[in-house]
Amino acid sequence: KNLEVLLTPLKPRRPTRRIHIGHVPIGGGAPIVVQSMTNTDTRDAGATIAQIRRLERAGCEVVRVAVPDREAVERLAEIKASVSVPLVADIHFDYRLALGALRAGVDGLRLNPGNIGGADKVRRVAEEAKARQVPIRIGVNSGSLEKDLLTRYGSPTAEAMVESALRHMELLQDHGFDLIKVSLKSSDVLTTLSAYRLLAQKTDVPLHLGVTEAGTPVQGAIKSALGIGLLLAEGIGDTIRVSVTGDPEEEMPIAYGILRALGLRRRGVEIISCPTCGRTEWDLIPLTQKVEKLVSGVATPLTVAIMGCVVNGPGEAREADVGIAGGRGTGILFKKGRRVRKLPQEGLLEALLDEIEAMTGESVPR
Ligand code: SF4
Repeated sequence: KNLEVLLTPLKPRRPTRRIHIGHVPIGGGAPIVVQSMTNTDTRDAGATIAQIRRLERAGCEVVRVAVPDREAVERLAEIKASVSVPLVADIHFDYRLALGALRAGVDGLRLNPGNIGGADKVRRVAEEAKARQVPIRIGVNSGSLEKDLLTRYGSPTAEAMVESALRHMELLQDHGFDLIKVSLKSSDVLTTLSAYRLLAQKTDVPLHLGVTEAGTPVQGAIKSALGIGLLLAEGIGDTIRVSVTGDPEEEMPIAYGILRALGLRRRGVEIISCPTCGRTEWDLIPLTQKVEKLVSGVATPLTVAIMGCVVNGPGEAREADVGIAGGRGTGILFKKGRRVRKLPQEGLLEALLDEIEAMTGESVPR
């Protein structure tokens, strides 16, 4: 029994209540949902719709848009009608924007009820959201904690963040509203871990995981892999958002990479490539980067290997569904570690892309 525990890499998922953002279930044992946020000006509906579509193609399952003013609210119905992925409106301070977003048909709100100006306004938003069965995410951020909590705790500690979340939750629950999801984001990974662990002991609402202001894609990937990944390994978390400074589409491979590494979900092409060594006889580094870019739109799970030498490559990449290994002037295509055919080096890329198309039934741009 003890050995079984030691050999089980992940803790069982924490039981949570289920909510739905549009047609996407979150919590209650549903697959971990990947979400993101646009960085276009929401008032520019055309640019926002185009970015949402690109995000959706890249695997994003729920998209949030910032709704800073009335003009942005007025664009929401058009945006909503032009995309099929569920849409969440991110609102700060003004309850009228929340009511407008609900009337425009959004599938979720992100709003902190303590910041919208009093009990009567919270009641109005809660009633409208309840009538439409639209969930609300409470998003506690270490950078914008209430003053009294900061004074009491001295800094935005995990305990302070959890207390803030519980307060906001209570404001909604007082109005019989329980379609709630919570995030507790800090740019500090260790605070993020402590805050979610603490909240997970106190409530069964679904949790949205993320590390905020994570930084450049490399820094963001590292912080997210640790912050989100460690929590998921403990069974905590129902939906995730990786955040990086850059194009939100860049978040998708990181998010799915985290889920894949933990065996929680598989989507798209996983490229395994050798680190290269003294036996490498061709320049596979730029080719690997090219393949990664070209196959980014493929959704079917597939493991693709790109290896530096013909002798060891196919064996080292035995687990790959398909792969190429280059030699001096020539190379081979292999499947599951077995050589399929020999090719001139210039033909390796095309042959690999043809195989990926044949195996997934999806087209790869050339
Ligand atoms: Fe070196 Fe070949 Fe292994 Fe690549 S596959 S690391 S080139 S031995």
